[in-house]
Amino acid sequence: SQLPADPITDNSRRQVTKACYSFVTPKQTAKPELVHVSPEMLDTLGMSENDAKTKQFLNVFTGNTVLEGTTPYAMCYGGHQFGHWAGQLGDGRAINLFEVEHNNKNWKLQLKGAGETPYSRTADGLAVLRSSVREYLCSEAMYHLGVPTTRALSLALSGDQVLRDVMYNGNPDYEKGAIVSRISPSFLRFGSFEILASRQDTETLKTLVDYTINTHFTHLGTPNKHAYVQFFNAVAMRSLDMVIHWQRVGFVHGVMNTDNLSILGLTIDYGPYGWLEGFEPGWTPNTTDNQNKRYQYGAQPDIVLWNLYQLANALYPLIEEAEGLEAVLANYAEQKDIQYLQMMRSKIGLSSEEQLDANLIQELEDCLQLTETDMTIFFRNLSDFDGVNPTNGLQIIRESFYDIKSVTEAIKDRWNLWFESYADRLERDPISAKAKKENMNSVNPKYVLRNYMAQLAIDDANKGDYKLIDDLFNLLKQPYAEQPKYEKWFAKRPEWARHKVGCSM
Ligand code: AMP
Ligand code: MG
Ligand code: MG
Repeated sequence: SQLPADPITDNSRRQVTKACYSFVTPKQTAKPELVHVSPEMLDTLGMSENDAKTKQFLNVFTGNTVLEGTTPYAMCYGGHQFGHWAGQLGDGRAINLFEVEHNNKNWKLQLKGAGETPYSRTADGLAVLRSSVREYLCSEAMYHLGVPTTRALSLALSGDQVLRDVMYNGNPDYEKGAIVSRISPSFLRFGSFEILASRQDTETLKTLVDYTINTHFTHLGTPNKHAYVQFFNAVAMRSLDMVIHWQRVGFVHGVMNTDNLSILGLTIDYGPYGWLEGFEPGWTPNTTDNQNKRYQYGAQPDIVLWNLYQLANALYPLIEEAEGLEAVLANYAEQKDIQYLQMMRSKIGLSSEEQLDANLIQELEDCLQLTETDMTIFFRNLSDFDGVNPTNGLQIIRESFYDIKSVTEAIKDRWNLWFESYADRLERDPISAKAKKENMNSVNPKYVLRNYMAQLAIDDANKGDYKLIDDLFNLLKQPYAEQPKYEKWFAKRPEWARHKVGCSM
């Protein structure tokens, strides 16, 4: 590669300077066993389902065999964690295996949970089945929802025991170790650039930025100061596109640290993420972020902007002129509101724009919070509202209320008023009722990976039963389609699962 490598080639923990990555050797696993493979991803990489049945596939995608001629490596990056610079982080439990070229696309394949690297700090480099099921199912589900994301090829058990928690009686609570193979055109993050700037290593920084432009942003031409600003703008616009999709489907990332923001604007690092059940801008699935709720649903587009400021600071030494970078940030701030509004218009089926749409949408968001209202069910069922009879609006969306008894007369009045303004607005919209419904059902998913669904699949998987993983995987391939045999998953979260989310580690 054109990027500088760390000259030391063992897995020992260390600070790595003047380099972008370190060569490492994946850990041998005790008894690897494949749990699931993504047929779509096999196809994308030019492999067949028979390839995935070979001993070699199992051994390569659990780290037991390093293919001849390949040199696995872990990447060096830093990051701002919860608003504070954290210094060197890096791939503490991810190991890149090799690249695959297929259909004119280049893919990097990496293992998550394949043992320690120079960047493991105090942790073990491993992953448990619980977190791996969550990453595997969610990243493929996001792809099928049309959200820019890294992908997953396989989910395997390592056969090793991994310790994450101690039980209340003091005994260790061992869990099954697992390895997910993740796939992306690039795993570079904002933090890959920040770490070099923080060390005032402008030379390696320039090498990395030039490489990134020459490899992933070729339309920007020859890297120079002008192209660096254009590069920053492209990253900003891709990140905006990604986060607006998150808002559309109700995805809450949970750990939007700068080491978890992809330079390609792909959703990366599926840790303590969660899905909105009740529409609640202040909700975060991350229990370690309960105090400040920095990464709550409603804040995500602003957090991207905060992270872009950090990336701007990292790129500044190459540009030495703040104006262009500031213009990109100002444009993001403006576009963020414009694109959010446009996305929300699409969720309520408006095909035209009116000045007062922002008010209509704000009032809708306020109504959605009057009592716990399931976001997915609400928007899906709203497509049945034709506007001809505003008084049946409440009836149509009734199923999305978690507790119908909490819907007071005052709340009903407010909803009825909203449905009246919505009906008026629909009347002024040139789109046909049929097209409106189709459009809405193509942006409002019927099925998402509700937090409790992943948990049920995990509980079964821990007992050795992988049927639900396969079921959910298949269900989530067509999140916008009616799938009668999966109708039971178009339902509110059961009460036992209230805000139950898995953990990232
Ligand atoms: P995350 O919060 O998952 O983005 O992780 C932050 C940093 O901790 C990254 O550098 C990860 O690679 C590292 N990390 C997380 N879990 C582990 C683990 N079990 N072993 C080693 N490093 C880890
Ligand atoms: Mg991470
Ligand atoms: Mg993580």
